[in-house]
Amino acid sequence: MNKQKTFIDNTLIEQEVKLLFDALCTGDNSFISKECILEAINKSGIDKNDGRLKEILHNINGNLNQESFYDLSSQSALLRKCLSGNLVIPDFESFSKNILNIFKKTAKIKEGKVADYIPQLARVNPDYFAVSICTIDGQEYSIGDYDQKFCFQSTCKPIIYCLAQEEVGAKKVHEHVGFEPSGLGFNELSLDRNKKPHNPMINAGAIMCSSLIKRKENIADKFDFVMQKMKELCNPTDISFNNSVYLSERQTADRNFALAYYMRENNAFPASTDILETLDFYFQCCSIETNAKGMAQIGAALANSGISPFTEKRIFNNQTVQNCLSLMHTCGMYDYSGEFAFKIGVPAKSGVSGALLMVIPDLMGICIWSPLLDRIGNSVKGIEFCKDLAKQYNIHNFNSITGEKPKKDPKSQRFDDTSKGVLALIEAAGKGDINEVQKINASGVPLDAVDYDGRTALHLAVAERQVEMVQFLFDNHVNPKTKDRWGHTPISEAKDNSYKEIVEIFSSTTNDA
Ligand code: GLU
Repeated sequence: MNKQKTFIDNTLIEQEVKLLFDALCTGDNSFISKECILEAINKSGIDKNDGRLKEILHNINGNLNQESFYDLSSQSALLRKCLSGNLVIPDFESFSKNILNIFKKTAKIKEGKVADYIPQLARVNPDYFAVSICTIDGQEYSIGDYDQKFCFQSTCKPIIYCLAQEEVGAKKVHEHVGFEPSGLGFNELSLDRNKKPHNPMINAGAIMCSSLIKRKENIADKFDFVMQKMKELCNPTDISFNNSVYLSERQTADRNFALAYYMRENNAFPASTDILETLDFYFQCCSIETNAKGMAQIGAALANSGISPFTEKRIFNNQTVQNCLSLMHTCGMYDYSGEFAFKIGVPAKSGVSGALLMVIPDLMGICIWSPLLDRIGNSVKGIEFCKDLAKQYNIHNFNSITGEKPKKDPKSQRFDDTSKGVLALIEAAGKGDINEVQKINASGVPLDAVDYDGRTALHLAVAERQVEMVQFLFDNHVNPKTKDRWGHTPISEAKDNSYKEIVEIFSSTTNDA
């Protein structure tokens, strides 16, 4: 079975590469130039210096004929995706243009005030404004002051929470911190009814989580550990530490000291916690710096279940990330968390440096940075940008409920492009044309795609009694139990029509579909 699967996979890659070669060869040319490949990569939103492509691109010398193109592109699924427009945002150019338009509109906003509780924040240029986007495939777009560094402040809280969970497990973390929005200010001197901090996204909760990280190590090693993790989450050169912010934070931290002592008074910390060292560690985490590009990459790793799109390394386990996104969703935006979840509908966290980190699960991380804050402490431009984005794109968690037709849903661009492909795939399956089905599949339409009635290629193959096609789709793991909108499955249709030879295929125990 596996051998057959590998054979089919290889055949599909071969088909895909052949189609790509034909598509990229212009005129009568029987070769593809390196420039043509670089241009396609550039359009796809993947940086040509992306570590995943570097070696492959380096190996292109001059023009590629069909054979050398095959050798090259069969080595990298990412390259094939870039060239065929099959990345998570297929039309990245149009998407970037829309983002630029929202950026320009938002840039006109002048309201807000920079945080002034420490001089290092009060002195930041209020006109700074950056937006960076990074998808789970590593497509990137940045505009404005995206190289300018700012400190994480409260946007480090999701990371601290993830690190604490990875260290001692979510269960243990939540013996010390709750799950509920506090309904109070982020640094309010208050605990929940169990005398624990309300959640990990406010100061008390983040201080508590800080106390759970590398408890046995000295403070210098703890700091190195956090820096190392931050550098794994994004381009390492985008992470640094701002010592003057740290010193100022520490000097003006009466409320955070008060919170820590209040929690200690209520036995909220694990036994023998050194609260001064814990506070120091928390101030250091708030004083780590990045830029909008780096923060968007961190968001992309969270959107990608904890795996960096660039190194493909798992940094946090997926349950850790799900927990973190759940609490960002309900508690991440200070006293605006409820309204943000209601109107925008995705997990986000903001900080007083003006950073807003938004995560659209399975799609992308977005960072909006502008130091002008509203009275609640969120970046004014950040919130407006998100509102506009949500107006233009279907990003809200519960959009499927309203069944609204996609506006400019980034994902729907892909759906729109492939809806024709899905119909062609299903039609070809009905005709029993395996060759055609393979071709369409190689162009990016999944074999188990469904049409508007919820019918798959397998439904059609059964309906038309295309036995070989049924066998092919079944062997390629198309689920015979998928229900269409009338509740019919390929299995039930085969049985209802007494297509014995098909019923037999489905009852075959050698197949694990
Ligand atoms: N370092 C700040 C504090 O603990 C973080 C404030 C914030 O970004 O919410 O008060």
